[in-house]
Amino acid sequence: MKKPDRKNSMPDVAGYYGGYGGRFVPETLMRALRELEQGYRRTVRQASFREEIGYYLRHYVGRPTPLYFAASMTADLGGARVYLKREDLAHTGAHKINNTIAQVLLAQKLGKRRIIAETGAGQHGVATATAAALFGLPCEVYMGDLDVKRQALNVDRMRLLGARVISVSSGSMTLKDAMNEAIRDWVTNVATTHYVIGSVAGPHPYPMIVRDFQSVIGREAMRQIRGLEHRLPDVLIACIGGGSNSMGLFTPFLRHDDIALIGVEAGGLGIESGKHGASLTAGDKGVLHGAMTRVLMDTDGQIVIPHSISAGLDYPGVGPELSHLKDTGRLKVYTVKDDDALSATAYLSKTEGIIPALESAHAVAFALRYVPGLRKGSVVIINISGRGDKDMDIIREHMAFENERGHDESH
Ligand SMILES: *Cc1c(COP(=O)(O)O)cnc(C)c1O
Repeated sequence: MKKPDRKNSMPDVAGYYGGYGGRFVPETLMRALRELEQGYRRTVRQASFREEIGYYLRHYVGRPTPLYFAASMTADLGGARVYLKREDLAHTGAHKINNTIAQVLLAQKLGKRRIIAETGAGQHGVATATAAALFGLPCEVYMGDLDVKRQALNVDRMRLLGARVISVSSGSMTLKDAMNEAIRDWVTNVATTHYVIGSVAGPHPYPMIVRDFQSVIGREAMRQIRGLEHRLPDVLIACIGGGSNSMGLFTPFLRHDDIALIGVEAGGLGIESGKHGASLTAGDKGVLHGAMTRVLMDTDGQIVIPHSISAGLDYPGVGPELSHLKDTGRLKVYTVKDDDALSATAYLSKTEGIIPALESAHAVAFALRYVPGLRKGSVVIINISGRGDKDMDIIREHMAFENERGHDESH
């Protein structure tokens, strides 16, 4: 297996991570992407910009988020020391805000006065609308018609935050159609508008920018674990939708070859069922959202609508850097099914008093089967990417079903 070349900083000049990445966009956007890349590289070098981001992450988002030693889980799982990185405690309840605040600040530095985004489940839309409200910029969010109906709470949140939600009724009326509309808007309004992409996906330079902005998770975790354990961890575990919370945690640890990096994808109803969101496990090489990556497609090369109980893992592609890291063997990828994610949600709630997002529960579920096999005293960090309040309707449905089957354990 080829080792990743970590002497060259990724991506290369054309925005490739090995064979993945690049820019597969209309000609009119090539210039905009090059300008964004140059503008980003110039701006991020300025100490004042980094300090400004740091100010809002600390005083508005509530960073650093705790790295919590999960004593009960540690005892229950046989002695490997389990830590939880608490992104669920960030403002708006997940890690997405780290990226949207930084991107909206960047947009301002680049002279863009209007913000657009696309959203599937609405979490990225809410995080973008929050950042736009904070800095007083107009914000429009594209969302598939079907998602607008399914995710009414997040639509209301966005509107309350002052954003305009534009319902997209073309195609499958879901995320990929919203992505197309957002790109169309950007092509038309590129002089005044910044397009906030919500994960380490999309055309170069987005995967790099979002990774850099989310790496605050890993930088904090590294400092925190050194303080608590006086050494680096053995294993990092994170769920993978587009890949931003995982790359955020992994990036500062990448060069330490002996630290295992584990990504957990949505197994949905099982890989063999075809109803899942496991682009790295079961996808093929193809273009999605302007980048070459691993994509869920049918035999005709058409994008397959993914399935996961967690809306945030319901994405038919994955960030190009993760595709590369998997191919080189640096990243190990596993899947967790819907039911196991639900059980892990109940487990973490009862064991540690923390209700995780269903996305994060995939990482927890994998830990439940993996950690008991580790040596006593090993150090494991699980990224709790978000909190579970948003998922209570789904969780409640499942609990009712369990109760009917006579598994009610409440007294
Ligand atoms: C959106 C989301 C994810 C998945 O996105 P990534 O880019 O893979 O991090 C995971 N967890 C939560 C809580 C989310 O909101």
